[in-house]
Amino acid sequence: MAAAVSASKSGARVGIVDESPSLGGQIWRGENSAASHSSDASSWLNQVKTAGVTALYGKRVFHQPEPGILLAEGPDDVCELGYRTLVLATGARERFLPFPGWTLPNVTGAGGLQALVKSGLPIRGKRVVVAGSGPLLLAVADYLRKHGAEIPLICEQAPWGRLVRFGLALLGQPGKIAQSLRIKKDIAGVPFVAGSWPLVAHGKNVLEAVTISRGGKPELIQCDYLACGFHLVPNVELPVLIGCQTRSGYVQVDDLQQTTVKGIFCAGEPTGIGGVDLALIEGQIAGLAVTGQASEAKVLFRKREKLRRFAHVLDEAFCLRSELRSPPTSDTLVCRCEDVPYSHLREHTCWLSAKLHTRCGMRPCQGRICGPATQFLFKWNPDSVRPPVFPVRVENLAVIPASQQSIPAVTGGLQ
Ligand SMILES: Cc1cc2nc3c(=O)[nH]c(=O)nc-3n(C[C@H](O)[C@H](O)[C@H](O)COP(=O)(O)OP(=O)(O)OC[C@H]3O[C@@H](n4cnc5c(N)ncnc54)[C@H](O)[C@@H]3O)c2cc1C
Repeated sequence: MAAAVSASKSGARVGIVDESPSLGGQIWRGENSAASHSSDASSWLNQVKTAGVTALYGKRVFHQPEPGILLAEGPDDVCELGYRTLVLATGARERFLPFPGWTLPNVTGAGGLQALVKSGLPIRGKRVVVAGSGPLLLAVADYLRKHGAEIPLICEQAPWGRLVRFGLALLGQPGKIAQSLRIKKDIAGVPFVAGSWPLVAHGKNVLEAVTISRGGKPELIQCDYLACGFHLVPNVELPVLIGCQTRSGYVQVDDLQQTTVKGIFCAGEPTGIGGVDLALIEGQIAGLAVTGQASEAKVLFRKREKLRRFAHVLDEAFCLRSELRSPPTSDTLVCRCEDVPYSHLREHTCWLSAKLHTRCGMRPCQGRICGPATQFLFKWNPDSVRPPVFPVRVENLAVIPASQQSIPAVTGGLQ
């Protein structure tokens, strides 16, 4: 949204394509009534509406058959989108780590449960343990409580020491301090424990309780939902497919947000997990730069630097502790699409070998869930990305030239 608004100021013809059915990205999508919008959200949504931008929603980009052409699939069709310059802003997703019982119904992602509630899931009166890592846990607990849920506990895996250092680092970011104080006030009374994580989710057919590790000791908590996510991982699959290089898992960009591929820019979480403010500034810089307004873009560099320091602090504060490698037992599923247990994976030495022998990562999520999990559990690096980056309907594969179809991806798409 920020990139499109800034680019449109040059008079360029600008289009947004988003797989979501409405504007707003991860935070603001689905906020349909003006009353539910924060002032930031309203301001950006209005700017996009008045900028003369062509918007295509509900279309998921799955391939670039040749430079300048993208293929996107919608509910009923596939479209070919031509572009001269491109800004990729594909966001991030939650990181999930396996532990016994994590595939039980009512064990969800933290942001995942929030999204379900936004889509109408009734949560009033339900007991929800929120666990994992990262600032998202507090935002989710706050949101769920405001919608009537009871939160018996928030478990953050990072130890207190790192959280205190994180708090001190916020001192240079007045906006972030204000945001943290607001959330702290809103979730006052909700027990929060650091250095704590889920060990086992219990239940016969559906979640009934969770055992957490607290101060090194197991503790059983009865609950209806476990909302669990371990910070975020960037969605770099599409940039990588297009040929953009990554460094430490993030898309590499220059000062103007241009990737290693000329004419392809990238903004937001794929270049570093830094939150909405950084995503908006990077989007503005990319939108200005991509339309030749580099001097206007440079004015925003200082602000971006400050927010990037915050991203670095986030990475340090919420990095995963090694004890999180211990909860999975031999029969804990790691790849939940193909039902591949931990014991089958630990025999392998790399992601490719595991994939070829067990079909780990070969079904609908295409490794988006088990890939980051195995990266943490076994220190495997994901291999290359192949088209289509998402499973697509078989009739839509016909538009991919045969020379670019790959057997594993096509198999994934067929299922
Ligand atoms: C599940 C979840 C919940 C979150 N909840 C909060 C919250 O409550 N509060 C908060 O402050 N932060 C939250 N965050 C963090 C927040 O999302 C980011 O800080 C912020 O949205 C970053 O903006 P972005 O533009 O980089 O990505 P996003 O806002 O995620 O936007 C990326 C967009 O790209 C689209 N997209 C991705 N791939 C494709 C494709 N191939 N084709 C077409 N469209 C595509 C997506 O549909 C999405 O609309 C959450 C993150 C996640 C993952």
